[in-house]
Amino acid sequence: METRILGTDEKDIQEAARILREGGLVAFPTETVYGLGADAMNDEAVGKVYAAKGRPSDNPMIVHIASPAELLTLTDSVTEDMEKLARAFWPGPLTMVVAAKPAVSRITTGGLDTVAVRMPDNEITLRLIREAGMPLAGPSANLSGHPSPTSAAHVYDDLQGRIDAVIQGEICRVGIESTVVDMTAAEPVILRPGVITASELGAVLHKTVTIDPAVLQKPTIHSDGSLLETGDDFKPKSPGMKYKHYAPKAEMIIFTGEPEKVRLAIAAEKLERVEFGQKVGVLIYDSDKPEEAAHEFFSQLRAFDKSGVDVILAAALKEDGVGLAVMNRMFKSAGYNIREVE
Ligand code: AMP
Ligand code: MG
Repeated sequence: METRILGTDEKDIQEAARILREGGLVAFPTETVYGLGADAMNDEAVGKVYAAKGRPSDNPMIVHIASPAELLTLTDSVTEDMEKLARAFWPGPLTMVVAAKPAVSRITTGGLDTVAVRMPDNEITLRLIREAGMPLAGPSANLSGHPSPTSAAHVYDDLQGRIDAVIQGEICRVGIESTVVDMTAAEPVILRPGVITASELGAVLHKTVTIDPAVLQKPTIHSDGSLLETGDDFKPKSPGMKYKHYAPKAEMIIFTGEPEKVRLAIAAEKLERVEFGQKVGVLIYDSDKPEEAAHEFFSQLRAFDKSGVDVILAAALKEDGVGLAVMNRMFKSAGYNIREVE
């Protein structure tokens, strides 16, 4: 299959919508990362998404809608809390997990009776959803296990020949995936951290929003590299959290500890590696600007891979607020290869 590159004018959006209505796959831009779109109500279409990505079929997809009112096509139970969050954060990088109507493909939901829903903050994609006339399943548009794509070129690198088209929109403003919050119980729980934080959600809902303990755990990886250890204490509610993710080709080490000592340790490690003839990539972000780290992170992993770096040495950010969301990705990218600096 030849993958077409579509622009963002009316004619191209109509063409993309036609492909989607016929059960094809079109990657689309959002403010978080690029999504791989398919008709969320069509078993066959969403089945192709898992195949194109090489994604395990129990890892459910986020469904993208073009207005808060469209929630009613996916769920019968819209609560007051859901309305409040939609008003405060949509369009935007917040995904709500809600009870799914029978009409929602159980292939989309990975067999669950809940569905994850979000309204993305990207005019092109909102137009595409309206034009297609259906909610779009849209996991990140990368090969499963690779860093998420923040540009159309990243999508093309991974999925060329495996999908019908990619819409060439802008580079993603946020750069990491949405916050996923489970709204199926009285108390909301964050299943995946993102740039919208627990305290921001709590301030809108006037209640405490907790984070699923699985998010904060640092499990180890099986020797085949594919799966994280899933001991009794690692049972994430978000199925996607248990898979190896975002991995660059290079070895990656995360240095934790006091920032100045971490800098020195990274410099020393770099010198040693260079002496051994290795090509070294370094990631050190401004701790006060975790949003910048979020924006750059995946794109830098891909750039390092392209330039044939052997090892990536990264300084950890503080694990709170947006920093928690960045570190959630960074730890997974490195396969939890962490060096504590004394
Ligand atoms: P991605 O589409 O690659 O951004 O990943 C989607 C994330 O949302 C994965 O971590 C999924 O496990 C999570 N997710 C999607 N649907 C559900 C659901 N119904 N319940 C819990 N987590 C979900
Ligand atoms: Mg993904």
